[in-house]
Amino acid sequence: MEQTNKKKIPEKKIERLPLFLNNTEIAKETIEFLQNSIQINTTNPPGNEIALARFIQEKFENENNPRIKTKLIETRPSRGNLIVTVEGADPKNNPIWGFASHLDVVPVSEDEHWDHPPFSGELVQLEHDQFIWGRGAFDMKQIGVAHAMGLIVLLREGFQPRGTIKLIYEADEERGGEEGMAILMEEYWDDMKVDYLITEGGGYKLPTGRDFAIQTGEKGKCQTLIRATGVAGHGSTPDPYEKFAIYKIVKILEKIRKKKRKIYMLKEYKQLIDAASLPTLLKILLKRKRMVRKILSLASKLTHEPFDKFFIPMLTDTIAPTIIRAGNKVNVISPTAELSLDIRVLPGHDREFIYNKLEKIIGKKLFRELELESIDYALATTSPINTILYDKIQATLEEMYPGANLVPILDTGGSDMKHLRKKDIPCYGFSLLLKDPDLTYDDLVGMSHAPNERISVTNLMLATEFTYRLMKKL
Ligand SMILES: [Zn+2]
Repeated sequence: MEQTNKKKIPEKKIERLPLFLNNTEIAKETIEFLQNSIQINTTNPPGNEIALARFIQEKFENENNPRIKTKLIETRPSRGNLIVTVEGADPKNNPIWGFASHLDVVPVSEDEHWDHPPFSGELVQLEHDQFIWGRGAFDMKQIGVAHAMGLIVLLREGFQPRGTIKLIYEADEERGGEEGMAILMEEYWDDMKVDYLITEGGGYKLPTGRDFAIQTGEKGKCQTLIRATGVAGHGSTPDPYEKFAIYKIVKILEKIRKKKRKIYMLKEYKQLIDAASLPTLLKILLKRKRMVRKILSLASKLTHEPFDKFFIPMLTDTIAPTIIRAGNKVNVISPTAELSLDIRVLPGHDREFIYNKLEKIIGKKLFRELELESIDYALATTSPINTILYDKIQATLEEMYPGANLVPILDTGGSDMKHLRKKDIPCYGFSLLLKDPDLTYDDLVGMSHAPNERISVTNLMLATEFTYRLMKKL
């Protein structure tokens, strides 16, 4: 392979080990490993992660290293999970370090356009870099491959960590982990047991300069279906509109649209602002409840970076109407109408809190007429930032990117970390990632679950090198 990163600006600032550059033997092996992983279709449902779990197990077994122990766990038929354990030299005095990645991917829908087939794992040359193409290239087979290759290279060098390292490859994350991580945590704790965990959800460079996001918490979900009832009848002789179930839903939608979302200055947000490399005055303004909206929208306009889109969900509970359903005949007034709301909640806000809020938005009278059905419910979870793993991630990052800075973020989506945080295990989302010159910041943030999902060879190798360097400190 040719050297393809001559023109890459951000990389000049990065301290790279020659071993992990894009044109090395290790890079070739890593790329192939990811291509093969993408070619094993683990679309969830049904997942069928067992095929990929076996493939990764084989990769480790081929190392012929007695220090490597692997265990395949089928949490449900064909839902394969793999745990790779390398025992530490001094396990009594050191924690067990977990590196987790999910094996499943989200479906590719028929109307998506892909420039290269989604399960091809094709290596494609764009202007500045080569990209590995396919569903899971970004979310998150590349991290699983980076974890494996980082560890494999260390073991080939004869390295033994002080604490035990476990790589965990789990099924069913994309559908909440109920058939994967939830079962591993409940029924396979002896195999699963870790003291700290690192996985997906952060590691990317923020538009604020030398800041890198680390996921230290994720918002909760309170997805709800609202059912309204009203008059039935023939379309030719309508009752007053107020009695229509459909109009009740329309009214609710309008009220949600008009309601300004309340800002909550939580400690997670303040922690983030404190850590970011922003001018002091700006930090003060960003922590003022009344100013924050204006400041963020101004910052977005001036920099053309999506500051508001990024920060506002960390300050508010969000309500997104996503599905409306009513009626099935043009001449019949439907006596029921349904609205689904994707509600994402901040730490400390539970269902009761959210439903009280909905009552205020909709109005008591109408609210009492409605039927509410909880579809998916999970509280927000967070991890502290004063831990040894957090410090080691910071130290590793600084080694590669002098002057870099970790910024703890509250993720708006959910991950398998929620299952571990229930047991108070500190979990962080971090896998090093730079903005590729071939992509916009928005492209990168929206890469998960998108058509033309891909990862650059540079980012794949950066993640691998980061894992290698971090594991060396464990
Ligand atoms: Zn993911």
